[in-house]
Amino acid sequence: MQSDVLIVGAGSAGSILAERLSSDPGRRVTVLETGPRAVPPRVGDAHLVPIGPGSPVVIRYPATLTDAPRREVDLVRGAVVGGSGAVNGGYFCRGVPADFAGWRIPGWSWDDVLPHFRAIETDLDFGGPLHGEHGPIPIRRTHEFSAGTRLFVDAVLARGFRWVDDLNGGGPADGVGALPLNVRGGTRVGPGAAFLGPALARPNLVVHPATRVQRVRFSGTRAVGVDALGPSGPVSYAADRIVLCAGAIGTAHLLMVSGCGPADVLGAAGIPVLADLPVGAWFHDHPEWVLPVDWPAAAGRTPIEAALSVDGLEIRLYTAGFAQMTGEMPSDPPHIGVALMRPAARGRLTVTSPDIAVAPVIEHHYDSVTEDVEALRRGADLARDIAGIVDREANWSTTQHLCGTAPLGAVLDPRCRVQGLDGLWVADGSIMPAATSRGPHATIAMIGHRAAGLVVD
Ligand SMILES: Cc1cc2nc3c(=O)[nH]c(=O)nc-3n(C[C@H](O)[C@H](O)[C@H](O)COP(=O)(O)OP(=O)(O)OC[C@H]3O[C@@H](n4cnc5c(N)ncnc54)[C@H](O)[C@@H]3O)c2cc1C
Repeated sequence: MQSDVLIVGAGSAGSILAERLSSDPGRRVTVLETGPRAVPPRVGDAHLVPIGPGSPVVIRYPATLTDAPRREVDLVRGAVVGGSGAVNGGYFCRGVPADFAGWRIPGWSWDDVLPHFRAIETDLDFGGPLHGEHGPIPIRRTHEFSAGTRLFVDAVLARGFRWVDDLNGGGPADGVGALPLNVRGGTRVGPGAAFLGPALARPNLVVHPATRVQRVRFSGTRAVGVDALGPSGPVSYAADRIVLCAGAIGTAHLLMVSGCGPADVLGAAGIPVLADLPVGAWFHDHPEWVLPVDWPAAAGRTPIEAALSVDGLEIRLYTAGFAQMTGEMPSDPPHIGVALMRPAARGRLTVTSPDIAVAPVIEHHYDSVTEDVEALRRGADLARDIAGIVDREANWSTTQHLCGTAPLGAVLDPRCRVQGLDGLWVADGSIMPAATSRGPHATIAMIGHRAAGLVVD
């Protein structure tokens, strides 16, 4: 089974990369995905986030958010064709130009990435040079807010913050606005549905669901294939080029069990070192504090409709509580989330075993930088003021935006190649050198599109 390109993971970035690379009928593209192909009914419902207990379309990873005291949670990642983008909140907001300037990676400036942001979308609200007109992912903002969001936005505006018409407009980040959503007619239209699904009829594109890659195989320093566990048992695949799109957790885990990672971590886990690289050494995320509010819960709404950006924080009203969003309860009160978008704290992802069935160790260290905690505290005070609540505790949480475990410029060269090795690329949320000022999904979709030209040029 020799492919020209083998893609590991049919998630947000992998779905777009697979579609782009297989648009050349002469190129044989194989995609291996650990989750199922069929998206069960209701998973596409943009008013639900189908990640509750027993969800057949997620993998859970134990993680520690803070160190003093230790706060432990299960992170979830989509494990289905479409990946996390098939189960997420539907908020599809690009990083801002300053985010990409801050990356300082040749070929990844705002001018470099804008054509790819445009190519993936059709913006149904705005046109002009900043927006796409022909891309497969439909983008629309909420025009009639739920009662709770209306109260949130009015309270924010009453405190003197400005209204931002277009949060994908590439302008200054601060102000409140309606979030761009990749939702059409109440259905989440992520990269799996918009890009990969329509390409599945191509004879040169093969997707193997329920197939978990266990390690990358090398000949010397060249990646030549992967070993996987498929529905019928162990199976190997060979390819000229291999691209890891298994997400910020899955890709880092695979790299490490394959011998690419910090030598001390691999040595302690009994993994022979092929390339001593800082995989998982300083990942990024958006720490979040959440507070319940007294506004009405909305039914039949996307999880977030509007957000306020202020001083590096994003303050958003979740239109319903978590249990309502996951479908576990018919009604659950909404809450406000206060997320720190450019934190100084760095997390660490390590492995303890060469067996990929043993979960990686994920430590966010959210509370390791005093300035981060102070910023969240100021944000929680502002949120209490906006919501008219007093003496209400804010709880540590996570936005599930983990990224940067195999960053460009450290683990990867600017063309997404794993440094010091041949035939191996990474294209997913792992590659982000720093978190963006917005949720990562639109940026990761852009990465999938941009990487197509880097893998085969
Ligand atoms: C519940 C939730 C809500 C979110 N809401 C938002 C939001 O509203 N807005 C936003 O901007 N961001 C949101 N995010 C984050 C965003 O969706 C993700 O960062 C993004 O989808 C990640 O894309 P990716 O391509 O890096 O990885 P993924 O989309 O996670 O894809 C990785 C794929 O690889 C597969 N895989 C992993 N390991 C292996 C292996 N060993 N072998 C084979 N396949 C493998 C996985 O099953 C998965 O399909 C949310 C995330 C979650 C989990």
